[in-house]
Amino acid sequence: MSELFPIIENVKVDLKSLISIKHKCSPEVCKGKISCCAEYEVCIEKDEVDKVFAHTPGAAEFAPQLKDDGFYRNIFDETDDNLIAIDTDEENQCLFAWRNSNEEVLCSLHSHAVKNNLSFYDTKPESCCLWPLAIYDGSPEILTVQEDAFNFDCNKKPESGKAELDTEISSIIRNVYGEKMLAGIKHAVSII
Ligand code: SF4
Repeated sequence: MSELFPIIENVKVDLKSLISIKHKCSPEVCKGKISCCAEYEVCIEKDEVDKVFAHTPGAAEFAPQLKDDGFYRNIFDETDDNLIAIDTDEENQCLFAWRNSNEEVLCSLHSHAVKNNLSFYDTKPESCCLWPLAIYDGSPEILTVQEDAFNFDCNKKPESGKAELDTEISSIIRNVYGEKMLAGIKHAVSII
């Protein structure tokens, strides 16, 4: 019998949500609108701080607000639930965000990765790499679609009524969780 919330690689997967979205991140799509980088408080696990911090000098080439008087600002705040939140500016925009000459909002950790032939999955916080998916607390954790993802034009409903994962969503799962997880999810989708 098919299952809509199978546990795959120790994660409870919300299959119905995952096949209900297609995603394409293009900065021009959110030009002049609220972008995901100004909508959420980005919280990272403590063990992710080193990864993000290591790429902050590269990111600062795009986002000079990461520095003050030649020194890197402390942009990490500890939250009540023992996570680390990244500071935002007065417009609620993540301090890693920057605007290019087209007024498009980009992530400086992502831009730094592209410039240096790195994978942005190795420079950005996991929660940002997962967008528009999200992981919710639980035992086990639940992988689903961010609640208000369809408020953003980079996310659409698939036209075909077929039960399948969008290419970009598959790529996110592969890069964050690995090939085995993606194969498991694809198999579960195929028997819905
Ligand atoms: S770290 Fe980058 S992708 Fe994540 S919210 Fe900040 S600017 Fe956006």
